Formats: sequence, C-alpha cells, structure tokens
Amino acid sequence: MPEVERSWIVALPKAEVHLHLEGCVAPALVGQRLAPVTSLAQLLAQLDHLCGAVRDPEQLAEIARGVVGRASASGARHCDIIVNPAHWPCWQRQLGAMFDALERPFAEAESEGGPSVGLCVSLSRTLGRDAADELVDTVVELAHPRVVGISIDGNEAGGSHNERFAGAFARAARAGLRRCAHAGESSGADGVREALEVLGAERIDHGIRCLEDPTLVAELVDRGVPLDLCPTSNVVLGLVADIASHPIERLRSLGVAVSVNTDDPLLYGIDLAGEYERCADAFGWDEAVLGRVARTSIESCFAPPARRADLLAELARFVEPSAG
Ligand SMILES: [Zn+2]
Repeated sequence: MPEVERSWIVALPKAEVHLHLEGCVAPALVGQRLAPVTSLAQLLAQLDHLCGAVRDPEQLAEIARGVVGRASASGARHCDIIVNPAHWPCWQRQLGAMFDALERPFAEAESEGGPSVGLCVSLSRTLGRDAADELVDTVVELAHPRVVGISIDGNEAGGSHNERFAGAFARAARAGLRRCAHAGESSGADGVREALEVLGAERIDHGIRCLEDPTLVAELVDRGVPLDLCPTSNVVLGLVADIASHPIERLRSLGVAVSVNTDDPLLYGIDLAGEYERCADAFGWDEAVLGRVARTSIESCFAPPARRADLLAELARFVEPSAG
C-alpha cells in the first residue's frame, strides 16, 4: 500500500469547501470547555453555546485569523466558509458588522499570499419561509464583497422542508450568489435530489446517502455535481462506523466528484491535511488520487473563475512538474 508523506499532502494545492465558521471557534476564546459530541443535535447545541458567547468584533477577527492560519498550515489555497447567523445571537441582526469584523484578517491573508476566502451565508432548516426570504434579501442588500454564496444546514430529522426554501434560493441565484446545501447527512437520497431540483444547489454538503438511490448517483456523475465530504465528522456523528467504512472511496470509484473537508475542525480536533492523510491511509490513495481529489476541491470552490484557474494551474505544476 503506498504511503504518502504528510509534507507532500500539505504542499498539495487544494481548497476547503465545507467548513463552518461555527466549528472554528476555539472554546478557550470564549472561556468554555467542549462537551463530548456524538450526534448532530448535540453538535448544533454545542455550536449555539460557543458562538453565543462571541460578542466582540476582536473575537471574530481572532476566529478569522485562526481559520486562515490553519488553512495555510494544511496547504488550503482557498476556503469557502459557511456562516449561519442563527448560531450568532449577538450578530444575527447586524450581519454587516459581523462580515466587517471578519474582513481584515481575510484581506490581510490574501495580500500576503495566503488563502483566499469566500463566505456562504447559511439558512437554518428550522427557519420559516418569510425568515429565510428575509435573510437572503438582507444578504443581497448588504452586497458584502466577501459573501459569495448561500447554503442551508441544520438537522433534517424533522423534515427537509425544501419547498419552504425554494424562493430564498431562487432570490440568491438571481442576485448572482452561488448555492450549496447540506443534504444526504440527516436526510436520505430524497434530500439530495430535492437539494438539486428544488433548491438548485450547485454543490452538495455531505450527500453521502445518495448511495441509497443508484439512479441519483448516476445523475450526480452525469451532471458532475460535486459532493463535499467530511469523513471524520460523519464518524463522530455516527453516520458511519469508522473512516475505513466511509463511502467516500465507493463514491469516488463510481465516478462522483468528491472533495475532502473538515466541517467543524475545532470541535473534532482535526485539520484538513490530516483528513487527506486518513483517507490515504484507509483507502491506499496514492499521489495521483490525492491530486484528483484536490482538483475537485478547487473546481468546486466558489472562488472567482480567475482565482480557480490560477489554483488549477498551480495544482497541475505540482502534480506534473514536467508538464511545466
Ligand atoms: Zn456541514
């Protein structure tokens, strides 16, 4: 079985496209301790607890510095960061101020050759139709240059209710925002299909339960819809028993475009390079496979086309130095 060095994995140009700002709050920053998390419901409660204690713009700046610092340490050249205002009671009614507080560390990182960052504002599954529409309208009116897309997340155990969010996603699309959606984690294959058909999602967060419907899998392959997968997150929250039984390898071998991501890295105590390493170890991925996964991560990120093209060129030079 091939062994790939961590230093090679860190050097591999890649993007992270499934990363929640909520999962990047260091408990020490807000004087808290982490409670053990074994379910999505516990995780969401924990995020509420941590983020609810963030009141100061300097705390947000510290969180942003942590994100770009860890991205650099793992070799991520771009991050799409999901931020769900519902978890941030001190900021949900002043989103402009929140984005401004995050802005300087992101801009500084970019100007110093660090990772580029896009924010995806996420709707909670529990929001009503009017509240979801209103949130998207607010984001569109703010037109903050750091915000590139919208997402939807939260527990689908009580139903996915995609119809309720169709209007909000359509508004976002009309305003030129990119769209991703959590589906196929706490929902099954139907959740993934609805995310595509009802919400018009361009990328699926998780999506692993698409495997419950082979027709859907074939469609994802045909349409080239990427899934942004988070192996450790799925293990911790009990969707799969361990990394070795994670369906990422099956999906990849079926031709689905998959990327590797951390979801909520500080809650799980993981980093992006470590997730690539875990997959390489579990599935015997060699440098060629890791390079293809990294390419999917860049191709599926919401960075501007010119930035994506630069990163793809950098990746090509890295994996095929002789190609020049
Ligand atoms: Zn997620």
